[in-house]
Amino acid sequence: MIYDIIIIGAGPAGMTAALYALRAEKSVLILDGNGYGGQIAQSQGVENYPGIPMVNGMDFADALMGQIQALGVEMEFALATAIRKEGDLFTVESDGGSFEGRSVILATGLKHRKLGAEGEERFLGRGVSFCAVCDGAFFRRMDVAVVGGGNTAVQDALYLAEICSKVYLIHRRDQFRAEEAVVARLKDHPNITCVMESAVVSMNGDTALRSLTLENRRTGERSTLEVAAVFEAVGMETQSAAFSDLVKLDGDGYLLAGEDCKTSVAGLFAAGDCRQKAIRQLTTAVCDGTVAALAAMDYLKELA
Ligand code: NAP
Repeated sequence: MIYDIIIIGAGPAGMTAALYALRAEKSVLILDGNGYGGQIAQSQGVENYPGIPMVNGMDFADALMGQIQALGVEMEFALATAIRKEGDLFTVESDGGSFEGRSVILATGLKHRKLGAEGEERFLGRGVSFCAVCDGAFFRRMDVAVVGGGNTAVQDALYLAEICSKVYLIHRRDQFRAEEAVVARLKDHPNITCVMESAVVSMNGDTALRSLTLENRRTGERSTLEVAAVFEAVGMETQSAAFSDLVKLDGDGYLLAGEDCKTSVAGLFAAGDCRQKAIRQLTTAVCDGTVAALAAMDYLKELA
């Protein structure tokens, strides 16, 4: 089967693109190697989506998925690994097989940056987490650490302080990047200890994480912190490198496409956080999904 539109990524941008294309009676396949929902699925509460005062992120993703399933979307839980264009036909290779389409929308979003510390891979899911809201409850009344100095790290520490015995907030510099108002709230929590100018050198344990080895970046002194979990909140990275043979990326790995979501390749569009842009929000992701779907449909009309 040749799909009208193959969408890579089932976050808000990709699912919104599918919604618009399906309502226009296009055949649509969405590929995603990580389930659906993207980053918003990990948000405990979304309070800035117009018209909806408060919604749980996973509930939002479920509702959007339900909406496109009712319209007949095809979904493959597979990781896209390459895209080729021969004539007007796109072939998307994935770890679940290859798929053909007349147009493609890349909505690959962003992924969590890892620290790269020794032992990190070994303890993934056994004490190393990227989502305090998803995994915090497993460490109720235990000592845990958060790494990072941005809004996510500080908010994660504040959230965990409500359920864990002690929270160590480890940051590599002597100042937080997070907004002052958020940082000020750390003072209200006697069970949060800030460990500044420090890096995690290694993650240690047996069947699960037991401790972190820290290094003070100014003095070089090493210390051990006994914790049951470490929540990494050191920012996000792109995940479009696999398509760089076909489409242009900027130096940080973001897809080069304007506000019209058109990339350097006719019939290939970029939507959401994966696109080079100034503002990355849920609202701008769904906006891109809309624009990309309408642009893809214009392209298909010209092909016909
Ligand atoms: P971020 O602002 O990019 O912060 C990442 C933090 O991780 C920085 O403090 C950085 O340190 C540190 N870091 C990066 N690489 C590291 C490494 N290899 N080792 C140790 N530390 C490392 O990321 P974010 O906190 O996820 O926020 C992303 C965006 O979302 C931001 O624009 C943020 O304002 C926004 N956000 C907003 C809210 C809200 O409610 N308003 C909530 C969450 C996020 P340095 O400071 O030294 O660079």
